Amino acid sequence: MILDENRLFPADSETRSVAVKLYETVRDLPIISPHGHTDPRWFAENEAFANPAALLIQPDHYIFRMLYSQGISLESLGIPSLDGVAASVDPKEVWRIFAKNYYLFRGTPTRLWLDYSLENQFGLTKRLSSENADEYYEVIAKKLQTPEFRPRALYEQFNIEVLSTTDSPIDTLEYHKAIRESGWRGRVLPTFRPDSLIDADHTGFLDNIQKLGQITGEDVGTWQGYLNALRNRRAFFKSMGATATDQGHPTAMTADLDPHAASALYGRILSGRSVPEEQELFRAQMLTEMAGMSVEDGLTMQLHPGSVRNHNRQLYEKFGRDKGADIPSPTEYVRALQPLLNRYGNDQRLTFILFTLDETTFSRELAPLAGHYPALKLGPPWWFHDSPEGMMRFREQATETAGFYNTVGFNDDTRALLSIPSRHDVARRIDCAFLARLVAEHRLDEDEAFEVIQDLTVNLVRKAYKL
Ligand SMILES: [Zn+2]
Repeated sequence: MILDENRLFPADSETRSVAVKLYETVRDLPIISPHGHTDPRWFAENEAFANPAALLIQPDHYIFRMLYSQGISLESLGIPSLDGVAASVDPKEVWRIFAKNYYLFRGTPTRLWLDYSLENQFGLTKRLSSENADEYYEVIAKKLQTPEFRPRALYEQFNIEVLSTTDSPIDTLEYHKAIRESGWRGRVLPTFRPDSLIDADHTGFLDNIQKLGQITGEDVGTWQGYLNALRNRRAFFKSMGATATDQGHPTAMTADLDPHAASALYGRILSGRSVPEEQELFRAQMLTEMAGMSVEDGLTMQLHPGSVRNHNRQLYEKFGRDKGADIPSPTEYVRALQPLLNRYGNDQRLTFILFTLDETTFSRELAPLAGHYPALKLGPPWWFHDSPEGMMRFREQATETAGFYNTVGFNDDTRALLSIPSRHDVARRIDCAFLARLVAEHRLDEDEAFEVIQDLTVNLVRKAYKL
């Protein structure tokens, strides 16, 4: 076997035995996945995945950023460039490159996720290497053609209760519609992600606004018309099952302008001649507007700030976005969120979930904020911190001020479908390990730890995301 049954648990036997007992009570609970990036089309069409490289390597920026950092080109991994010329690379060759370089993932969560998939989903029980690369490729390729490996069957096999995708407001949600009309019992929900209509720096921003006007019949040439159009699409998303929104801004800055100033700013943004400071102020204003709409329509609000996107200019020009070249930068929350919180922070109708890529803010800013404002909750460790050490640091730094009940359980935040069970398993194990230590140190009674682990695994997620 590749995986030890006690992996990630504390090494000393007393604490470990508590962690094991806690884990037994949550191991088989359903997976609730309220934020992620899987493709709704998979579940609408339910077709077989093409091959092991197309499923496990090519969509996974955690994998190819590491390979790229060691001098392996994206072309050699079959990643298509923007000009649409996909390098014709044999997927088996891509798999061989990956297997040969599997040692690069030692000590990373990617290694944990992949080992879990190999063993639990494909029954492969030896470490991936150059020697077994071809054999493993054949086993996986064959399985992918079986009915058990179709997207819907995987959803069921993984015991997923609900899975949220991330969608543009101008998306027709045709695949979500197809899923709903198919009679399949899986629950795949859209999430309203308006960045491409709020961030003037976004590719195609002005075209997107025009499309928004066409779809909704609102006059997006005016500030009120623009807001009405967004309100209209939120209602549509809600009617299609959405329970949440998400925004991914460069910073957490918010603003609360008077309507005249906001309208004038929108005019500047629409002119196509806005400067970066105006674009930042507009994003800031729109966070407060979205919070106001969430108070009205009840959609849970999420903010994922602080990623400097497309850091590698050359790579961006050749391959486009989401190619593993997004890098975290320091993020300030306390002053940045104040305009929004002055307006809505005390409103219990709002659930506003904050994420960070800047771990220094957990104990200094985020836990004190969420440990005070009724509207605020802390999202789980995100992206680079979605790892055993990152999750443990989060609990250690946030719990003493925010407690457990201002957090919202786990998000897998992934486009890598096969990694979903493994990511949730890692989160459950780390929470058990953390709680076991509190019990062993007599800071928490054992019966309370059993209650908390249930809450962290399912109850807090259902509550925060209204699922
Ligand atoms: Zn995400």
